[in-house]
Amino acid sequence: MTVSAVIDTHCHLDLVAGKGIATPDALQAARDNGLEGIVQIATDLESAQFHRSLAEDAPGGSPRLYWTVGLHPESADRFDGAYAAKLRDVVQSNRDNPDLVAIGETGLDYFHTTEHEAKQKESFAFHLDLARREGLPIVLHTRDDRTYTPEKTRSVSDALAMLREHGDGVRGVLHCFTYTEKEALPFVELGWFVSYSGVLTFKNAEFVQQGASRLPLECLMVETDAPYLAPNPHRGKTNQPAHVVHTLDFLATLRKDTCGEDPEFVRKTVLENSRRFLALRNSH
Ligand SMILES: [Zn+2]
Repeated sequence: MTVSAVIDTHCHLDLVAGKGIATPDALQAARDNGLEGIVQIATDLESAQFHRSLAEDAPGGSPRLYWTVGLHPESADRFDGAYAAKLRDVVQSNRDNPDLVAIGETGLDYFHTTEHEAKQKESFAFHLDLARREGLPIVLHTRDDRTYTPEKTRSVSDALAMLREHGDGVRGVLHCFTYTEKEALPFVELGWFVSYSGVLTFKNAEFVQQGASRLPLECLMVETDAPYLAPNPHRGKTNQPAHVVHTLDFLATLRKDTCGEDPEFVRKTVLENSRRFLALRNSH
């Protein structure tokens, strides 16, 4: 495998540590595999705090650590006015912190239950509004089913409708994208990025692979979503940021086989895309 610079645009180092991979070990493995940066995604206020502390402990370190602020849709039952005020407060008090790069993860998850749908929408609308006011991009989580099912895409279409209603001008990333190019393109037209996790490397992921081969290269990024969804050849094990190289390798080979693109060019462009995503925080 070639070691080339790459950014893991979505992982949860707090949860990786909870699964038994100590953070210094995860960071060393990331360094060894050429990771330039890691975006640590908040699932609630506590994880944002954890990630902020890690970034502060390693200023300018390699890989560089970034973080986000948000409440995961699966925890939306915790969302209320007081919680919203605390999230807003963390964002506003870190306006000058260059490591705070996005709002999220937020969005709509209809997989386990649609019981909290109204709460999820309320929370997502708040995140969109916060992102718009603060000039930060959104990390968007959408899920309808275990695998892509053509008739189950409502979380994405609902998210798009809400983006149009509450997020005028807001950009972001469709994280761990498991739909096709059809669902992604309306977002891409609004300047959004599409990030692929280890799911891309799974044998049964034809639809996902098709989307990754048909979307414009300029919108593609890679992520681990660690500790979940380890790519082949680590499928089923605890995931960590270093494993993002397998997903990037897979994508580079896929684009070569389907579009005839030079794998090195694909790697370079994905890295540039990720840097552009991180720079969105400056586009106030
Ligand atoms: Zn995640």
